[in-house]
Amino acid sequence: MNYLKNILAVLFLFSGLFVVAQPAKKSPHLPIIDVHVHTMKINPNFTSEMCPWFLSNMPGGDPNEKMVFAASGDCANPLKPAKSDAEMQAAVMETMERLNMTMVAFSDAEILHNWYNAAPKGRIIPGIGVSSSKEMTVEAFRDSLSNGFYKVMSEVAPQYQGMSPSDMSLDAYFAVAEELNIPVGIHMGTGGNGMANITQPKYRASMGNPLLLEDLLARHPKLKIWVQHAGYPMADELIALMGANAYVYCDISGMIWSYPLDEIHAYIKRLVQAGFGKRIMYGTDFMMWPKLFETSIGVIENAQYLSFDQKRDILFNNAVRFFRLDEKQFK
Ligand SMILES: [Zn+2]
Repeated sequence: MNYLKNILAVLFLFSGLFVVAQPAKKSPHLPIIDVHVHTMKINPNFTSEMCPWFLSNMPGGDPNEKMVFAASGDCANPLKPAKSDAEMQAAVMETMERLNMTMVAFSDAEILHNWYNAAPKGRIIPGIGVSSSKEMTVEAFRDSLSNGFYKVMSEVAPQYQGMSPSDMSLDAYFAVAEELNIPVGIHMGTGGNGMANITQPKYRASMGNPLLLEDLLARHPKLKIWVQHAGYPMADELIALMGANAYVYCDISGMIWSYPLDEIHAYIKRLVQAGFGKRIMYGTDFMMWPKLFETSIGVIENAQYLSFDQKRDILFNNAVRFFRLDEKQFK
């Protein structure tokens, strides 16, 4: 009993010292750049809870039975979706401030402008994507980039139409990005379980092969491309592409919170082991769950095979280099 009292006294003493020694303001979190954030408009009828790493179970189905997309499973801590645009914006801004984050953001233009105006200067880097020539003319795309608001071309996702990123129908858009020095993010790989059966009948897994970017890169030698979702699961092809094309980077968005955790770690470890630790960028593919940022950052923070410096490269340094950001602005 006395022993316990002594321990308590010591703890009390230390905690007292700790309180005195603690600075008035908490030092900021080391900066993090999330290169893949969707500014999604919330439709309360189409939101659901999500169990991270839900693709650990990839059940089969039958064409005569309706296939359902189930990201909400039986997990202890499902992520809750935001219920309105206002709730989402408040949560994103709070997380951005607390975790000292900068976000490359794209999708719904109205939401993007709202976030841009609400965030501290420079913390939202706006992107605009074109995945088909039917979406906008080349002239309209050039105008959008020329007014200076958009700094990035993303997300470009021809794979969902069963089209290669090197398809000539997109070439003139990439030429504009090359001419204006705009980095380009292209969706390659990942399609979850049964994407072609559920919502995207034109989706082709084969069109996510990173090597399909080679012709595009050859036509546009100054184009800066990052392979989104790290072309998962085509690590060999991504390694071959990045080996042959030294300006190509990748992000690990989407895959890091949806596929089986061991599989994700094996994939990232493989890329680092192959020598590409300076070209992997952190990203989430954030859609509607505010706590997704913490969940995804945790994957990198807890990666036992990465050194502190390697983690900082993935979470921050590589994106500063790729997007030609000024490091001083983060000090
Ligand atoms: Zn994507």
